Amino acid sequence: MVLLQCSVHNCIHNNSNYCNLNQITIGGSNTYQPDGTNCENFINKSSALTNSISINTPYSNVNCKAEQCIYNKKLKCTANSIDISGYTSSTSEETLCATFQYNPN
Ligand code: SF4
Repeated sequence: MVLLQCSVHNCIHNNSNYCNLNQITIGGSNTYQPDGTNCENFINKSSALTNSISINTPYSNVNCKAEQCIYNKKLKCTANSIDISGYTSSTSEETLCATFQYNPN
């Protein structure tokens, strides 16, 4: 489990800078930088039909497609904690994993 802090306040799953999902997926196949990653679970609050369940779960399982990141092991994130950024995001593509670090090997 990864300590998941998230500043994407426009997401229906965000609750006081934490994510209320037990599992998320980060996109970013073949990226070499954080800008190429994104949270695939983002749902814009303004387009959601239902209210979010307000349960804080600081730790989540993080599946990750960014295989070039040093923390990626077999498509799972092994970092102790990650930060998801995108304070003003209105789409999934505008979010990113700020903890991404390129693994040149
Ligand atoms: S730190 Fe790396 S492995 Fe973990 S979610 Fe972010 S990009 Fe994926």
